[in-house]
Amino acid sequence: MPGADRWLDGNALAGLLAEAFGEEMTAIERRCSGCGAERALGAYRAYLGAGVVLRCPSCGSAGLRVVALGDRFSVSWSGPTHRAP
Ligand SMILES: [Zn+2]
Repeated sequence: MPGADRWLDGNALAGLLAEAFGEEMTAIERRCSGCGAERALGAYRAYLGAGVVLRCPSCGSAGLRVVALGDRFSVSWSGPTHRAP
């Protein structure tokens, strides 16, 4: 069972992300706008609340927010994102 912090491994959201983006996303890397660390989305921490916020595991900066709106998704990135080669 998770502890008091309500977060999941980003990989736990692989299905949601694939549905929102139409492709596998956990291997996509992004550079954190807070600390500069480059991590795959699967390594991010997913905080559940009003939607899902993926936060940098190093500094906690929000990198991606996904909100389900009925049959579609609202997706907002924070900072630059680039794809792994
Ligand atoms: Zn960071």
